[in-house]
Amino acid sequence: MNEINPNPGYKRIATEEAWAPTELMNLFHKELERKSIKDPGFYSLWGFFSGNSQRAQDLSRRLQDLNDERIKDMDSAGIDMQVVALTSPGVQIFEPEMGTSLAIRFNDELADQISKNPDRFVGLAAFSPMDTKGAAKELERGVTKLGMKGGILNSHSLGTYMDDEKYWEVFEAAEALDVPIYLHPNTPSPQMIEPFLKLGLDAAVYGFGCETGLHALRLLVAGLFDRFPKLQIILGHCGESLPFNLSRINYMHGHVSTSNRYENVKPLKRPAMDYLKENFYYTNSGVAWAPPIMFIRDVISPDRMLYAMDYPWQFIHSEVAELDNLPMTGAEKKQFFEGNARKLFKI
Ligand code: MN
Repeated sequence: MNEINPNPGYKRIATEEAWAPTELMNLFHKELERKSIKDPGFYSLWGFFSGNSQRAQDLSRRLQDLNDERIKDMDSAGIDMQVVALTSPGVQIFEPEMGTSLAIRFNDELADQISKNPDRFVGLAAFSPMDTKGAAKELERGVTKLGMKGGILNSHSLGTYMDDEKYWEVFEAAEALDVPIYLHPNTPSPQMIEPFLKLGLDAAVYGFGCETGLHALRLLVAGLFDRFPKLQIILGHCGESLPFNLSRINYMHGHVSTSNRYENVKPLKRPAMDYLKENFYYTNSGVAWAPPIMFIRDVISPDRMLYAMDYPWQFIHSEVAELDNLPMTGAEKKQFFEGNARKLFKI
């Protein structure tokens, strides 16, 4: 059996935890038959996870449950609280307006489920990013009316990224509401997936990280944080490799942005590194490994590194015990597992 300390001296708040309403799963199933969207990553990911394998069945069942089984799982793994968000790609494969009406229903359902166990769950609001007005409005409703703690952006929407300022209303709303947006992985966009697919690198092995890191950098270099200096974006998986590349991104973007080499690339107000340190939070979702966690605390800030499990995609009890043994003081562990999440999500 796994030895998980029931009283480690801190609450464990897991900050990147997934759910999927049954209606969304049914829509995914329909789309897998209809094949009407142009997103090979969707068919690769959900083609497998809608299947009959034990792993797919367990995942699908756990994704849809926000009650008995999930709480039992949390109890068995020592998780006190989950920050729950709509699983990828959420509503982002549907027509923009349909995406908004789905987001409204799913946010209502999530809020309703949270209200049954308010000491165990908080939620992030889904929105349909390509429906710009609807997205901002639904984020605002989610936060102000439903008590959501931020927004979930499952990266690209059928290959469209959010760096074009015509999509920035939702970021403006997030800044005004003082809530973070979780930039969560999607499979590589249709434009980039081909060389990943053949050898199975499109999903969590590498594709998610490439895709989501790219999206984060596109937002940064497009000047999103010059426009909205207080905006906070959360990256999972130890920052999708960006903290490791902090120095190179900073130095080379400084060069590129002043070289007039690219028509669309203009200098930012500050060095790229500053935004990665002051406009991003990082979680260890899917990475129960001390070196990158300690590295981010070191090069970014101990105030910006948060715990996450990535349930139910990665539900491994022994990882909790491993993370309890991070080379930190008790106070530092409390900050990592609990304190930073309480502050950021106002829990
Ligand atoms: Mn995840």
